[in-house]
Amino acid sequence: MDDRTFRNAMGKFATGVNVITTLADGEAHGMTANAFMSVSLNPRLVLISISEKARMLDKINTSGKFAVNILSDAQKEYSMHFAGQMKETHTVEFDWMDGVPVIKNALANIVCNVQSKQIAGDHTLFIGEVKDINFGEGKPLTFYEGKYGEIVEKEIRQEI
Ligand code: FAD
Ligand code: NAD
Repeated sequence: MDDRTFRNAMGKFATGVNVITTLADGEAHGMTANAFMSVSLNPRLVLISISEKARMLDKINTSGKFAVNILSDAQKEYSMHFAGQMKETHTVEFDWMDGVPVIKNALANIVCNVQSKQIAGDHTLFIGEVKDINFGEGKPLTFYEGKYGEIVEKEIRQEI
């Protein structure tokens, strides 16, 4: 099996899109990520997976904190920007929660302290204990088969 086959299979799992944010050495940093799951209710834990190649890895190791910002379908450009997919450079103005930078108008901002971590192959899994949550308005940006999308509610007509 080659890498493309693996990625094509993983791409069949439709996800939302997040920007992970943190503050390290006085600088805010953001990175697009779809590897995210809710882990536990008591205590409240979530999981993210960060590539060994991502600058974000050292930043979270330094700060011990991160926020998961769940993007709305109006925020595709944030996803592309924080994945390094935009040609132009942009300045991003963050909101702040508990000293952590967060994306304005995201569907949810979930602020976490790193509870534990596990190196898994070429990624590091961070389990975060949720400390604070803020909600925004809108519908989710989605990612499926390597493409962005959005949720369309179907009108169901019953034929009599
Ligand atoms: P960089 O590549 O240096 O930064 C990313 C971009 O954000 C750059 O354009 C940078 O200018 C900008 N940026 C960062 N901080 C700021 C700031 N303060 N102000 C303004 N701009 C800023 N990788 C994973 O490891 N795990 C995943 O779960 C994951 N999921 C992904 C899902 C999708 C849909 C996509 C498109 C990519 C995903 N990636 C994932 C890949 C990851 O987003 C990219 O490899 C990313 O470029 C790695 O970021 P970096 O930390 O190395 O930082
Ligand atoms: P793609 O076809 O590479 O992504 C489809 C799925 O494959 C993703 O949703 C993810 O589940 C998986 N995947 C892709 N790259 C991975 C990696 N390096 N490690 C673990 N799982 C991975 O979609 P694309 O549009 O070509 O992706 C854009 C870029 O973002 C690529 O460089 C890709 O590697 C990266 N990306 C990385 C991750 C990740 O590290 N977890 C997740 C998604 C996308």
